[in-house]
Amino acid sequence: MAEIYYDDDADLSIIQGRHVAVIGYGSQGHAHALNLRDSGVDVRIGLAEGSTSRAKAEAEGLRVLSVADAVEEADVIMILTPDQVQRTVYAESIQPHLTAGDALFFAHGFNIRFGYISAPEGVDVAMVAPKGPGHTVRREFEAGRGVPALIAVEKDSSGNAEALALSYAKAIGGTRAGVIKTTFTEETETDLFGEQAVLCGGVSQLVQYGFETLTEAGYKPEIAYFEVLHELKLIVDLMIEGGIAKQRWSVSDTAEYGDYVSGPRVIDPHVKENMKAVLSDIQDGTFAKRFIDDQDKGGPEFKELRAKGEAHPIEATGRELRQLFSWIKSNDDYTEGQVS
Ligand code: NAD
Ligand code: MG
Ligand code: MG
Ligand code: MG
Ligand code: MG
Repeated sequence: MAEIYYDDDADLSIIQGRHVAVIGYGSQGHAHALNLRDSGVDVRIGLAEGSTSRAKAEAEGLRVLSVADAVEEADVIMILTPDQVQRTVYAESIQPHLTAGDALFFAHGFNIRFGYISAPEGVDVAMVAPKGPGHTVRREFEAGRGVPALIAVEKDSSGNAEALALSYAKAIGGTRAGVIKTTFTEETETDLFGEQAVLCGGVSQLVQYGFETLTEAGYKPEIAYFEVLHELKLIVDLMIEGGIAKQRWSVSDTAEYGDYVSGPRVIDPHVKENMKAVLSDIQDGTFAKRFIDDQDKGGPEFKELRAKGEAHPIEATGRELRQLFSWIKSNDDYTEGQVS
């Protein structure tokens, strides 16, 4: 079993004695910065000139500096810009201002694992990666709870990098829920695999194929949407509460039997072979190179794939239906048959 750290295992005063720069103020950035501040930590935000995030950070009373100035002032630097711009921001505005004794923090191991960033001598390199979207990290913290997190140490120059990472994790609420120790390699490879094979890629493709199969057979798109997309959340909630077993217990025996006989027919052993090929492309850097090379050209492949996804008929059906849902929920302006 992995060892799990809670509030009592972490010393908040370590991070309270440091000066933190949060680089980027997006999904993770705003959550880390506000949670750190509310935990009594000295924090400033580093942003590019003309960043649209500046106004949002300043509205929260946070001090916003250029990335270079923020790094200069700070001795713990948490990089929370998108993964594909981190190496450029690092080379131009972070590395020149790092000094021995500083700590470089990440919330995902991509750039370290694939060699796009390497830190100078004397600098700690560690990760505090909440396992949830930034907005949940902030919301849970405000509610007195936390989102589970992973910590990892890539380079322990000070000899205290793990205690520092655990202290940071406590300040953003991670140890309230539980923190597991991992490595940059394990976090990066499993995170990419999970999102590609199951959470984002696998589920999206499964839902689209289900929708296509039903509508091509002549069933109404609205009905297909309910059956293959909307109800997904209800099923996933049961899995989170009690695993696949609770989900199977809760559905009808008809659904449970259908699960056993048709699940392995749809997701056959060949899918597992495909998953192994995806994992192999992650491990040997093929995926990382394809992503970064495309981003360096302005993301033409990325933009084309995004446009293709948005044009899938399930999106138009969903937009119409969700309007109908809010009209039912609000329970006012009831006009029979109106779907706007
Ligand atoms: P985001 O896209 O939401 O926010 C990026 C921020 O970086 C914005 O404030 C943007 O203004 C700023 N930025 C962009 N280019 C910049 C530049 N050149 N210089 C300075 N600032 C710049 O990013 P995110 O989704 O919060 O991801 C940040 C990191 O956190 C990534 O490493 C990601 O893998 C990791 N992570 C994200 C989530 C998540 O929920 N989104 C979860 C776990 C880990
Ligand atoms: Mg993830
Ligand atoms: Mg990820
Ligand atoms: Mg049903
Ligand atoms: Mg049952």
